[in-house]
Amino acid sequence: MTKQADWLQILVECQKNIKNQISPLLKTLNQPQPNLGLGAGGDPIKQIDLAAENAIIATLKGYDVSFTLISEESGIKKYGENPNVCFVTADPIDGTTNLMRGIPFYATSIAVSTQPTLRTVHTALVTDLFHDIMYTAQRGKGAHRNDKAITPSTNYTLEEAVIGVDLNTYKVSKIAPQLSGLIRRTKHIRHFGANALEICYVADGTTDAFIDIRGKLRATDMSAAWLIAEEAGAKITTPTGKPLSIKLDPKQKVAFIAAANPKIHATILDLIKPEKEAK
Ligand SMILES: [Mg+2]
Repeated sequence: MTKQADWLQILVECQKNIKNQISPLLKTLNQPQPNLGLGAGGDPIKQIDLAAENAIIATLKGYDVSFTLISEESGIKKYGENPNVCFVTADPIDGTTNLMRGIPFYATSIAVSTQPTLRTVHTALVTDLFHDIMYTAQRGKGAHRNDKAITPSTNYTLEEAVIGVDLNTYKVSKIAPQLSGLIRRTKHIRHFGANALEICYVADGTTDAFIDIRGKLRATDMSAAWLIAEEAGAKITTPTGKPLSIKLDPKQKVAFIAAANPKIHATILDLIKPEKEAK
């Protein structure tokens, strides 16, 4: 099996190739887009998503590694002679709607694990493709933002906090009552529209928490950011405070609370009190 250090290098190469592949397409976004059907995650596939995914596959093939790809677009695919030793979970473009509409907040997200499970992710990369900011993490080696080690904020008061909340769901009337106490007490609520990047913002102290209790986010969207948050020292759990333990599959959904430190995590958990654990 390829060593962890090599995997980080491979992921860095992947994001460079994604940037190269999508940059000509960024100039054609105001033209009519081809209908490419639905991706494995259930959203309509955009040409730019496919180009980013193809860049990942081409890069990995170039390194002659065996792997199982778990992708939001094309689902689960096996490559090489021994694909069950390594799992690459990718959301080639996180925040495609932002990208298509010209909102400068979208990322690529890639995680490498020894099993198709979140807890075995050992190497992760999330790159803000517009601002060219790269977040990486390796199990046991901390998290980095463009080569600089990162830590979350130490702020724990809601009055001072900037907290991201994803309310993007038709079930908003169901989750709104759970969130109203938190929203009432928090002065600065945000949602930027690319959840992987928003978890990285918690990891590096840009924001103090990011909450997605919809049970709608795909595992592929947050597998890399999960390790980056954990390695930075943030606390990321289920809405009832349990460790996240999910399968990595394009159809797997997840609900979570990512918080900068145990104090603000406990405050948020106390205010939210979900009716039941999201599956
Ligand atoms: Mg995507």
